[in-house]
Amino acid sequence: MSDSKPKVAFYWCSSCGGCEESIVDLGADILKVVAAVDIVYWPVALDFKKKDLEAMPDGSIAVSFINGGIRMSEQEEMAHLLRRKSGLVVAHGACAHLGGIPGLANFWTKSAIFDTVYHKTFSTANPSKAEPLAKSMVDGHELTLPEFWDTVKPLDAVIDVDYYLPGCAPHRDLILNAVTAILEGKLPPKGAVLSPNTSCCDDCDRNETKPEKLTVKEIKRPYEVLLDPKTCFLAQGVICLGPATRGGCGERCIHGNMPCRGCMGPTDQVRDQGAKFLSAFASILEAKDEAEVDRLVDTIVDPAGTFYRFSLPSSILKRKKMEVVR
Ligand code: SF4
Ligand code: SF4
Ligand code: SF4
Repeated sequence: MSDSKPKVAFYWCSSCGGCEESIVDLGADILKVVAAVDIVYWPVALDFKKKDLEAMPDGSIAVSFINGGIRMSEQEEMAHLLRRKSGLVVAHGACAHLGGIPGLANFWTKSAIFDTVYHKTFSTANPSKAEPLAKSMVDGHELTLPEFWDTVKPLDAVIDVDYYLPGCAPHRDLILNAVTAILEGKLPPKGAVLSPNTSCCDDCDRNETKPEKLTVKEIKRPYEVLLDPKTCFLAQGVICLGPATRGGCGERCIHGNMPCRGCMGPTDQVRDQGAKFLSAFASILEAKDEAEVDRLVDTIVDPAGTFYRFSLPSSILKRKKMEVVR
């Protein structure tokens, strides 16, 4: 390792691993990154231990890319440790940025999740009804596990975050641009989302097919209709979150003839992506009266999961109301 190169760390919290893969997706460009920086911590890919990180001087890592939401005590502890060791922290991917898909678990509680996972699924064989415990005694020794919390949080709910790399997972170009900007010291103001502040519709090559007066008489799911590959999804009666979603993802879903699900999160002007889309969508529903609106809305399968698929923990709602919130 050379002392003159900036030191970089990658870490995952409550994550599917896709954001770690997004680094590998840099392909041959990863060689340029590796040549320009020293990767000093990346436990998924290389054999680093927590004690290696603890031994580094505070502030000695130029930038830590942290993906995944915060669901367990260990993840919050690691986020604080990386924050202390790093000049910059980047929330890498939708889960760290907004809470992401694992954040949909905020519609349930820890006990409901444990009940399903450890007792009720068809593949579970758990005759002793065991559940993970934060502390247990085995042969006179105390064993500990990270504590599983009721609520998933975005990274900035537990530490100060300098920048956000949006997307599930972030597009390779966004990652490369972010690394280049950091290396060249050409970063935008602290707190910026490192992607253009335009909507997905602005970038979409189907935007011109959206009628000036767009109305939706019937809501269909993608598999219920033979989707025209050139026409706006909303004009085909299929929910597309493009109007409420930040651009810069390369319109990957749309090019695959699937509607946008909102993984890039909202633009800077929007506080709550789900509420923004609901309000836009309500204005295009063609209904004569309230009963007709109710009938149309009832045809949306899992509305909360559709409108808040990536953003529930960072939305105004944050989670389903419960007695004790941690
Ligand atoms: S943002 Fe998407 S790819 Fe990244 S960890 Fe979350 S679910 Fe996985
Ligand atoms: S609603 Fe979807 S398909 Fe239509 S223009 Fe916007 S992003 Fe494209
Ligand atoms: S089209 Fe929407 S869901 Fe798909 S990658 Fe882009 S922002 Fe994410």
